[in-house]
Amino acid sequence: MTTPPTTTGPAPARPARTERPARPERPAGDRPVRGDRPARPASRPHGQWKVDGTEPLNANEQWKQEDGGLAVRERIERIYADGGFASIDPTDLHGRFRWWGLYTQRKPGIDGGRTATLEPHELEDEYFMLRVRIDGGQLTTEQLRVIGGISTEFGRDTADLTDRQNIQLHWIRVEDVPEIWRRLEAVGLGTTEACGDVPRVVLGSPVAGIAADELIDPTPQIDEITSRFIGDESLANLPRKFKSALTGHPSQDVVHEINDVAFVAVEHPELGVGYDLWVGGGLSTAPRLAERLGVFVAPERVAEAWHGVAQIFRDYGYRRLRNKARLKFLLADWGVAKFREVLETEYLDAPLPDGPAAPTPTTPGDHVGVHRQKDGRFYVGATPIVGRVSGPILTRLADLVEAHGSTRLRTTPHQKVVILDIPEDRVESLIAGLDELGLSARPSLIRRGTIACTGIEFCKLAIVETKAYATAAVLELEERLAGFDLPHPISLHVNGCPNSCARIQTADIGLKGQLIMDDSGEQVPGYQVHLGGGLASLDRDEAGLGRTVRGLKVTADGIADYVERVVTRFLAERDGAADESF
Ligand code: SF4
Repeated sequence: MTTPPTTTGPAPARPARTERPARPERPAGDRPVRGDRPARPASRPHGQWKVDGTEPLNANEQWKQEDGGLAVRERIERIYADGGFASIDPTDLHGRFRWWGLYTQRKPGIDGGRTATLEPHELEDEYFMLRVRIDGGQLTTEQLRVIGGISTEFGRDTADLTDRQNIQLHWIRVEDVPEIWRRLEAVGLGTTEACGDVPRVVLGSPVAGIAADELIDPTPQIDEITSRFIGDESLANLPRKFKSALTGHPSQDVVHEINDVAFVAVEHPELGVGYDLWVGGGLSTAPRLAERLGVFVAPERVAEAWHGVAQIFRDYGYRRLRNKARLKFLLADWGVAKFREVLETEYLDAPLPDGPAAPTPTTPGDHVGVHRQKDGRFYVGATPIVGRVSGPILTRLADLVEAHGSTRLRTTPHQKVVILDIPEDRVESLIAGLDELGLSARPSLIRRGTIACTGIEFCKLAIVETKAYATAAVLELEERLAGFDLPHPISLHVNGCPNSCARIQTADIGLKGQLIMDDSGEQVPGYQVHLGGGLASLDRDEAGLGRTVRGLKVTADGIADYVERVVTRFLAERDGAADESF
């Protein structure tokens, strides 16, 4: 530090004031610069690489630049798997591990009231959650059996189907991670960029290539994106996560409105079948639905367009504040017209033609039930309760599917599973076998519409348990609502904290975990209620975000009572139209 010069002697006399002519008005950006100092920027930089330069503006950005997340794999294999949990560098543990689908899980027994008061290391266990990436949700029975085996051997039989088509395991030790990777990669699976500030799993229509009413099979486009860009260092340091979705099915079955980039099949009157490009969706902080760019993307240009949007996010995305670092904030500031112009002029080989919007879906996108394929065989969609399965269930499911003449299945963005290629005369036998595994192809509408995030059982950010409470509520409601004629599934989405891993703002009833006061003034686990959200579907023309109702909260063990009240009131007051929105 330098010492300022001291002054001695009397202060110089101040010059007499003289009258000056009024200064002419100047535009704000044209102000004169005082002395040789550069002009102070109007506001603090957002950390946009192309605008502000790549100087890191926070600790996250610094370590990402110094040594990227992908680099940690070599250390896991060479050092940490031998040295165990205690040998892991903290920046690797809390940062770079995510690039390989690894998060530390919550230490058992820490209640939600302490989530905000404890340091992260006090909340975390020495075990990991491991997310297996399943792009497009496409699985073979061989792959499923490997995941089931890993769950049983290394993950205490835990397994959850997530609402992003992944399968998540728990209780994983770092010592076992290299062997787990070896087994996954031997069957074409992996955990590369399953978490972290990277392009996450690419959602794809669960019925790609098989549905009789499909407009186009997006599998070649998904394959091109994942083979060219997943694990690519040039996209391995994005401002934050980057979520993608592609569908060729008219049910628009990939929740495209809440992804950073999404391609939805559409028929152009002159150009044939291609995709409608959406950008900038996302929930959690400042939830925002994606917007159409109004362009038509031919199938052969999907990877180029996807890459362009990803590069815009990398180069112009906000990096200074992590809670402003999603693409939706850039889109909100730029608007659709500027976003399209930058995409076309700076990133694409040629402009994209204008394109029409895809029609509103007229069939549900969860694919539950029995459906005819284009080749005459059938696909069967089945649901566990809130995505919870187990290693043995996955292994037995692989056996069951093979025993019915198939080797293919899909995970869905609704925590469900779809079994493909079943001959007509084996469908009922398959359904009976699925029931024995707790996977229902003819579920109640409440079971079908309920999803839940990981919650306090394993998540360090959670305030409230989710899957257990939601499961209890589903079982209770199946009894209580058995005699009612519900017009369509009721979407009940349950989150364990203010984040939105279970998409609470897009549900008929969304529950956001928090501690609340019960009737006797005791602080208990509960939820803030969001009502009236939903994505475009057969009972609503367009997506809309649910809203909180001031003061409307429900205790964790009061979910069934609350939902029953809402449903019975809806049924009593609806005007009789079977497709009236819940
Ligand atoms: Fe964890 Fe919250 Fe996400 Fe649930 S919503 S998984 S509690 S971060």
